[in-house]
Amino acid sequence: LLSKRLQAVYQMVDANTRVADIGSDHAYLPVELIEEKVANYAIAGEVAKGPMSRSKEDVDKFGLSDKIDVRLGDGLAVIKADDLIDTVVIAGMGGILIQNILTNATAEQLSHVKTLVLQPNIGEPLVRRWLVENGFKIVDEDIVEEDRHVYEIIKAEKVTEPITLTDAELLMGPVLMQKKTPTFVAKWEHKLNGYHKAVANMGYAKKIDQAKIDVMNQNIQYIEGIL
Ligand code: SAM
Repeated sequence: LLSKRLQAVYQMVDANTRVADIGSDHAYLPVELIEEKVANYAIAGEVAKGPMSRSKEDVDKFGLSDKIDVRLGDGLAVIKADDLIDTVVIAGMGGILIQNILTNATAEQLSHVKTLVLQPNIGEPLVRRWLVENGFKIVDEDIVEEDRHVYEIIKAEKVTEPITLTDAELLMGPVLMQKKTPTFVAKWEHKLNGYHKAVANMGYAKKIDQAKIDVMNQNIQYIEGIL
């Protein structure tokens, strides 16, 4: 039922959890988590009415409406403290949107949340920065390729000690850098190639954007230091 990308997200969810899948669309993930008895309870949150009513139909069809609540709302507004949600999943959106959704969450909505599973389609460093600044430590990461797009999945846990990540870790992912899977290496070799070409081309530009060149050279250094 799940795509390779959603399967990788699914793998990051711990057993015996109470999960809110924010921006659930078709609710495939909560359905699988409940059917496979990974999660004990799930909320499928959606801001758009169309997907939400479709999700409701699917949840009813699978006979899962006692374990999955499909709720209409913006971001974590679908979570109440007495739902005792301990795991929030936000997948399949841009990093800026994920960061905004998390920033708009209230203390009450996050009160029982121990684990975040985030899958930004782009803008992963923004998401990692939000985690560092808000006391969530990255405990696992995965990277998968599907339909010629590479997706990163980030799992983080609430901690009390201060956390720091280097700029290279924000860019490439602290766990992914350690795992260094073939998909990771292929992604960053491709990016490295792109940066080298872009820096070379910029040298010929009429107006040289030195700040942009500096960022790319910095990224080249980070990537070459890891590959
Ligand atoms: N999470 C699913 C997945 O990974 O396959 C669906 C991803 S879909 C591309 C993104 C969904 O997020 C859309 O259904 C959209 O309506 C929903 N969405 C966007 N902004 C949202 C927000 N602020 N709160 C809740 N849902 C949101």
